[in-house]
Amino acid sequence: MLQLVFYRPLWDNSPASDMGNTVLKQAAVDNSLSPHGGVLVERLAFLRDGGQDQVLMLPRIEVRDQLARECLNIAYGFFSPLTGFMGRADLDSVVHGMTLANGYVWSIPIVFDLAAAQLAELEVKVGDSILLTYQDQPLATLDVEEIYPYDKELLCAQVYGTTEAAHPGVLRTRAYQDRFVAGPVTLVNPPVINPPFDRFWRTPRQIRQTLSDLGWSRVVAHQTRNVPHSGHEWLMKGAYLAAEADGILVSAVIGEKKRGDYIDEAIVLTHQRLRDAGFFKQDVHYTSALLWDMRYAGPREAVFHALVRKNLGCTHHMFGRDHAGVGSYYDTYAAHRIFDELPDLGIKSVLTLEWWYCPVCAGVAYEGLCGHQDQKQELSGTFIRSIIQGGVEPAPLTLRPEVLEVVRECADRYGFGSPFVGDEYLADRTPVMSMHAVECTCCACTCTRLPEKV
Ligand SMILES: [Zn+2]
Repeated sequence: MLQLVFYRPLWDNSPASDMGNTVLKQAAVDNSLSPHGGVLVERLAFLRDGGQDQVLMLPRIEVRDQLARECLNIAYGFFSPLTGFMGRADLDSVVHGMTLANGYVWSIPIVFDLAAAQLAELEVKVGDSILLTYQDQPLATLDVEEIYPYDKELLCAQVYGTTEAAHPGVLRTRAYQDRFVAGPVTLVNPPVINPPFDRFWRTPRQIRQTLSDLGWSRVVAHQTRNVPHSGHEWLMKGAYLAAEADGILVSAVIGEKKRGDYIDEAIVLTHQRLRDAGFFKQDVHYTSALLWDMRYAGPREAVFHALVRKNLGCTHHMFGRDHAGVGSYYDTYAAHRIFDELPDLGIKSVLTLEWWYCPVCAGVAYEGLCGHQDQKQELSGTFIRSIIQGGVEPAPLTLRPEVLEVVRECADRYGFGSPFVGDEYLADRTPVMSMHAVECTCCACTCTRLPEKV
């Protein structure tokens, strides 16, 4: 059996590698296959299709929003080739070598944390299955293959390059319970995606079909958590040309929100409006939603974003300044260089420098072309936010009036008066996904409560 495994110490290449202490382990696998790993993972066994009432009798664990989203992503194949939450061998390999144990590149831990005390209380052990519930309804099963503790500080140091609590990824990791539970996940009750996200959330299989229907074979992904200003619009246009793409897949990250972020509804609806208003032709631009909680892992998260969009059928992924970065933890263009260190991932990174407003060029100009750097007016999200928050009308060249109109509509309709996340939005927004009530089958009644464990 041929299995070549070798280690390439990256710090030999440059004094300050973007990958820190990561030692890339390359096995004899073809990382270019699409979906990642060659097969689109789909682990679906819906209760409504019948015949699996026994899962309702399993020990139940209610999961938080983040884990519910990740169950969905695993089961529908956004995370192909992952079939479940990672065991120690995979996690060690990801943490130290940025690949799964089988050699496929993977950069971000996908783990299910639980308290040892809760496991003991539920008498859950290796070999058991658990029913994961969300909003008190069945969501997925987890077949427990491994239960293990892990060094969270080590994980942070390797994945985030820091153990400072000021880093949101470090904070998230530290908040994990003291055990990781590993094993395959199967979705048993698909959530209802609520408006307006129902127009944008599609499974990888559905997105791949859409791209095929559109006749796109070269597709460039645009990751966003923003309402698009002109800089973003031109970034997409520039990447479309640079990639010689057939189309642009906008992949809006919808997940945990913090005060001051744009509300999720505004992000997807403004991107859609750019197309509807003709700034992009109907057949070159498609807006979709990805349910993901940003880890802000900089270059490692860039690799992760590329792999997920590869699973959606994209061939290219645009990366701008400080992609998925936070504070000053990562070098501005670390997310670009990391791809040079990796094998062919089957999705190419498209470098995008800044677009700014230049009064001399009399328009939006590209950093790599405009020679009036000293006169540039930056089109940063922060700048646009301050304009909107100040109640001033932004110049049409910086934020399209059509986009601003949608921002205002969203503020009224979804944002309790503001396009930015505030306390009311955090407390009372319509959830992105809701669960179908599963009818009780134990007593043939129509109540929506789960039967007690037998
Ligand atoms: Zn200029």
